[in-house]
Amino acid sequence: MTLIIDAHQDLAWNMVNLGRDYTRSAEDIRQSEKNTPILAYNGNTLLGWPQYQQANVAIVFGTLFCTPRRRDQGEYDIQVYETPQEAHECYRQNLDAYLRLTDQHPEKFRLLYNQSDLNAHLATWEAHQSQSQDPPPPVGIVILMEGADGIREPEEVEQWYDWGVRLIGPAWAGTRYCGGTRDPGPLTKAGFALLDQMAELGIVLDISHMDHQSARQALDHYAGQIIASHSNAEALISGIPINRHLKDETIRQLIARNGVMGVIPTNAFLDWNWRDHGGRDVIGLEKYIAQIDYVCQIAGNTHHVAIGTDFDGGFGVESVPHELDSIADLTKLIPHLKKKGYNQEDIERIMHGNWLRILQNNLPNS
Ligand SMILES: [Zn+2]
Repeated sequence: MTLIIDAHQDLAWNMVNLGRDYTRSAEDIRQSEKNTPILAYNGNTLLGWPQYQQANVAIVFGTLFCTPRRRDQGEYDIQVYETPQEAHECYRQNLDAYLRLTDQHPEKFRLLYNQSDLNAHLATWEAHQSQSQDPPPPVGIVILMEGADGIREPEEVEQWYDWGVRLIGPAWAGTRYCGGTRDPGPLTKAGFALLDQMAELGIVLDISHMDHQSARQALDHYAGQIIASHSNAEALISGIPINRHLKDETIRQLIARNGVMGVIPTNAFLDWNWRDHGGRDVIGLEKYIAQIDYVCQIAGNTHHVAIGTDFDGGFGVESVPHELDSIADLTKLIPHLKKKGYNQEDIERIMHGNWLRILQNNLPNS
């Protein structure tokens, strides 16, 4: 069965702020949150350990994420920051959440820092797939920092690298380093300095949430690997008023730099006015497949698009295409892709192979 690698899940944010326990099933988590304000806040969860197993989700990029106070999202957003020091502490708490999770449940979640971790992890999955009586292997987590304000100064990025961060997206909203979603603007002087430090360490740059201008600057300037962990093609999202997704010229440049783009199956990023257009019932997976296909058509191949669900990242089951009840249903993409003419090799690349290439080319040896 096809393995899945998903490049964007805000696991730590949900663990720290909402107390979600992802070692449980999605149904159990939903049950425990019944009649709480969490549902209005972040929806019903799409994640849970048995659901990862059902879809053979072998690796996720788990984010470190905190909210700047000016974008405070209310009651449950307990991790907000104003100063670089506050951001730093907040991002450290996210990091600690992954360390606790993997210490307490090594049979369910495992952090992947380097090539030997990755190879050992893949070997466990292969053994499991060839002898299905083995216990199911853990989900591998690679740490991705979303929004770089927790890095107090560019030189500190080396410390974060030592702590295990392997990918960094400098923006969410705008940060001290660059313009971001709803905060247009360029890379700052500190932003260029941050990129230089990152390149030296071999950290993967994630341009998702960067403003069009700062993303294009980064694509011109950054010497290392570039990806977009969770971004869609703006051209296909009718009515979208925010600078959250990638323009065609950015997608072309990302492809030219041998990057990979993880596309997001959430309704607002497939049709901005989906609620007025009939709601969840009328948003089907074909709209998500259209995003995947769009990137493949621009590239002329299937080497540059992959999965970046952003599940539980501010939305739940209520806001994804109607065929999806949890991450277990990502396997439903496969027949859709086949119907559209994608062969088995293409499908393997989209479901995991392209992200695996990024990890194999960029994780350190040890
Ligand atoms: Zn995001």
